[in-house]
Amino acid sequence: MEKIAIFPGSFDPFTIGHESIVRRSMKLFDKIIIMIGYNTNKQPYFPLEKRMRWINEIFDEDDNIAVESFEGLTVDFCKKVGAQYILRGLRTSADFEIERAIAQVNKQMYPDIETVFLLTIPEHTPVNSTIVRDIIMHGGDASRFLPRRIKMSEFTTDEK
Ligand code: ADP
Repeated sequence: MEKIAIFPGSFDPFTIGHESIVRRSMKLFDKIIIMIGYNTNKQPYFPLEKRMRWINEIFDEDDNIAVESFEGLTVDFCKKVGAQYILRGLRTSADFEIERAIAQVNKQMYPDIETVFLLTIPEHTPVNSTIVRDIIMHGGDASRFLPRRIKMSEFTTDEK
């Protein structure tokens, strides 16, 4: 049976930390679906279409990586696409505490699902979307925190 993992997140924006987790996981799974979760009541900074396009560009040459958006429970998305694994990245003990609760609740709701955690590489520990977004909003150069394929010129003036 094909091993399918989903990597859920808001990816607002997708950073080198996220990219590294996906690339390292490619050896573990046959297919990884990056699931951009959205909530009609919560306004992201970058529009969904842009976040999807950027991720598609980053993994353009990787046939086993797909991107989809979903509004609803992560476990419902897993059932919909036949995924047996949820992939998450861990940076700090604070991440662990949040992720532990989410994974345990997901397991209760859908016992067939397993959450797999990868520890971030040390250089990526301080990288998070909120900080990267802040740098972009204030006109700074966030390129060192963004995947190589994403150029700062991608961000329109209203996003700086
Ligand atoms: P969410 O809003 O669901 O936390 P994010 O887009 O912030 O979505 O993150 C998605 C996943 O990527 C989470 O598991 C998060 O811990 C992980 N992640 C975020 N930044 C990094 C990083 N720098 N290194 C490793 N994992 C990361």
